[in-house]
Amino acid sequence: MKAIVKFCACACIMWCAALPAHAEWVRRVTDGIMGTRITVELWADDPAKGQQAIDAVLDEMRHIDDTMSTYKPTSEVSQVNAHAADGPMHISKELFDLLTTARQYSQITDGAFDITYASVGYMYDFRKHVRPNDAQIAKALPAVNYRHVVLDPKNQTVWFSQKGVRIDLGGIAKGYSVDCGIEVLQKLGYTRAFVGAGGDSRIIGDRFGKPWIVGIRDPFKGEGNVIARIPLVNAAISTSGDYERFFDEGGVRYHHIIDPHTGHSASKVRSATVIGPYATRTDGLSKTAFVLGADQALAIYNRLPDIDAIIVKPDGTIVYSNGMRRAQRDAAH
Ligand code: ADP
Ligand code: MG
Repeated sequence: MKAIVKFCACACIMWCAALPAHAEWVRRVTDGIMGTRITVELWADDPAKGQQAIDAVLDEMRHIDDTMSTYKPTSEVSQVNAHAADGPMHISKELFDLLTTARQYSQITDGAFDITYASVGYMYDFRKHVRPNDAQIAKALPAVNYRHVVLDPKNQTVWFSQKGVRIDLGGIAKGYSVDCGIEVLQKLGYTRAFVGAGGDSRIIGDRFGKPWIVGIRDPFKGEGNVIARIPLVNAAISTSGDYERFFDEGGVRYHHIIDPHTGHSASKVRSATVIGPYATRTDGLSKTAFVLGADQALAIYNRLPDIDAIIVKPDGTIVYSNGMRRAQRDAAH
């Protein structure tokens, strides 16, 4: 009898090992990288390998955080801020390429997106309710201009043509890290996945015939309240809101999106959601409406054939890009 039990156990182990691993959705939510919440979900034929793939995505994001964060004095961006006004400085190809991309978004958005916002922006601390006064802003403001960041592709150098210039990639690095995370998964052969970092997400594939659903938060209400649920397949989506990092004082909301022309928080809209093919792109475009207002931002978005947008104005009105309006009309018929 004992022998039979033993035999059965061995047979079972062999039989289980021969079975393919059970395919399933694997999901992980992690806090603490880039100061935000990272969500990765994927369809894995082998869940253990799926977990390893998520580890690889998070490693990639940690590397980007270590390179790009201005909160880390050792990061490459912090080194650039410390030394690039002294003369051309050789930087990594990765940072050089992202600075080049950032400049493109400054050009596309008529300067609304500008990584040199940080020349003033560094004086804000939203957690501690600290903001610069008018004299401090006026003194620092001449340093805010993306044209002060001089890039030399031949020598792969960056130079700040003025003293006082600081850069911060907080307006594009999360989107970039999402794209890098998706690339990691694609290289490993995954075809159905979601990678999200704070307000920036990208999706590859569908959910077996169904789209992924991404909610857009209602900027007038607390977390969990949405104004729309957007079905997405093979797309990126970024939402910027004035509720992310802020404090209210004297009836004014001071928040983390800065108007490069004034050095004050940009408050022409309450939230802006941009949908497009890549998260670097949607992130680079989602701040525009805060600085330029809904109409001017929509004029820019509507010129870009791969971009759609949903904007919530200060009075609560929701306005849509032409592509979204067409989609709504088609769905109604
Ligand atoms: P999240 O950080 O949640 O992705 P956003 O995409 O809205 O939020 O980006 C806000 C961040 O963008 C700010 O915290 C700041 O680092 C950066 N930023 C603020 N103003 C500008 C601007 N005018 N141009 C480029 N980046 C900006
Ligand atoms: Mg973002």
